[in-house]
Amino acid sequence: MKRKVSLFTVLIALAVLSVAIGFFNALYAGYQVQKAQVVKNSLASNVAYAEKLAEFINLYIDALHRQLKISAARLPDAQGTPQALTAELSRVASQAQGVTAVLLADAGGTIIARSAQAPAQLAAFNTLAELGMKGQRPADWVVPCCEHDGQRAALMLVEPVPGKDGTAAGFLAAVVILERGSRLDRLIGEHPYGDGASVYLVNVDGRVLYSHAAGGPDESVLSLVKADVSPTSGPGSAQVSDASGAPVLAGYAPITKGKWAVVIQRPLDLALSPLKTLLAESLRFAIPAVIVTLLLVCGLAYAIARPLARLTRAMGSPEAIDKQGPRASLLKTWYFEADKLREALIATLAQHRHEVGRLNTQTMTDPMTGLMNRRALELRFDELAAAVTPFAVIALDLDHFKQVNDVFGHPVGDKVLILLAKTLSDSVRQQDRPFRVGGEEFVVIVPASSPEVAMHAAERIRADVAKKAMPDGVGHATVSVGVALWPQHGKSPQAVVKCADEALYASKAAGRNRVTLWKEGLPQ
Ligand code: GH3
Ligand code: MG
Ligand code: MG
Repeated sequence: MKRKVSLFTVLIALAVLSVAIGFFNALYAGYQVQKAQVVKNSLASNVAYAEKLAEFINLYIDALHRQLKISAARLPDAQGTPQALTAELSRVASQAQGVTAVLLADAGGTIIARSAQAPAQLAAFNTLAELGMKGQRPADWVVPCCEHDGQRAALMLVEPVPGKDGTAAGFLAAVVILERGSRLDRLIGEHPYGDGASVYLVNVDGRVLYSHAAGGPDESVLSLVKADVSPTSGPGSAQVSDASGAPVLAGYAPITKGKWAVVIQRPLDLALSPLKTLLAESLRFAIPAVIVTLLLVCGLAYAIARPLARLTRAMGSPEAIDKQGPRASLLKTWYFEADKLREALIATLAQHRHEVGRLNTQTMTDPMTGLMNRRALELRFDELAAAVTPFAVIALDLDHFKQVNDVFGHPVGDKVLILLAKTLSDSVRQQDRPFRVGGEEFVVIVPASSPEVAMHAAERIRADVAKKAMPDGVGHATVSVGVALWPQHGKSPQAVVKCADEALYASKAAGRNRVTLWKEGLPQ
């Protein structure tokens, strides 16, 4: 038969599984909740910081406008030679923080003078219109330019130069090229996020005008745009994928002056890295607790399985019925079901024993007289021989019983046999109970080592029978008796029975109703 797994194994598997599932579930759920929180916080702080930067940049632009306006108001007085003009523009450029160049245009927008250190690439532009100017009023905008130098954009600010009649006599333009190390770069670069966060300045199309990336990808079109988010229309945040497909957390805010926007991007992995460290830490702390829990649960599983395993062993043993009953009652059970099972087992075993005993008695008892039969006699011999107890075999046979049957009928013969059995039982001690070994043949076993004791007992039996009045007018019945001793008269109990039979026949031959002790040379 296929061997089944034990209850202990099942309980252990269950315990380990539930502890493991519980533990990992708690860990996973905790991680997911914290991850959501981290993402939420990271997005919120990215937006807050983008808004802060946008505000700074707006303030910076405002300050530049103010400076430019003052310079523009003074300019008509300073106009003279082209050299003087250039010197004045250079002075304005050096006073305004972060300004790369200052240009002067006439009322038509044609550039007529440049500050001294104006980058060479600006020489390619002859009018402010080429640089993106649209109206005749103060304005600011961001224009893509100078890409061949690795720069992508320039911030343009324009203030009109007041004329005598109140109209614009010309325009004073400040150019802030967005380049590494510039004032604007320093402004957006000084963010407190540490490694990994990148700051981008983007135009309405989401095209990157400038980036201060901390090792991050320097994409020209932000994934925000791919994700249909327009950073210039209002502040917000989104989780998007970067060019390499990695998730990034973006926060953005528009810069109202110039119609552009600040975007702060931080890779999700980087935002989660403290959480991962925390997870590893909690794992390290939780593992001893998990091991202790596992040990406790295994101990409990063992305690639950043990009584049942013992009861099973008690049931499974081949000697269960004979010996395990009393042992089962000693088995310790500590919980209700096992206790009930133990009680049921004890009751079943007791019933079994009783039933087996009843069947044994049945197979060893003569139903008519209630005496033990020949099989029981054999067992008694085994017991006595094993104990090496000397004993006497007293063999009895009713005299002329055939006649009783013939004269009074078989049923009366039976009654005689039943009364004889009772007389025999009454005549011997409790432990010397007689056996019915044939139709009207009986044997009594008496523990005795001397012929005198044995003969005395045999004589008493014979006399008791002779005295007894038999039923239905049968009168008195007699028995002929033969006596032999073990081990004096034979090696085996069976040999001694044979001797007792011979002595019995001798009694018959001598006239019946008498007792004969076996001796060598009795007539056969
Ligand atoms: P003896 O003195 O020589 O022993 O003579 P006997 O008639 O008793 O002869 P024997 O012992 O050979 O006969 C036994 C008789 O016992 C034969 C049989 O009819 C009778 N008998 C044996 N078993 C039963 C029984 O269960 N009931 C009755 N009614 N008779 C039995
Ligand atoms: Mg007989
Ligand atoms: Mg007889």
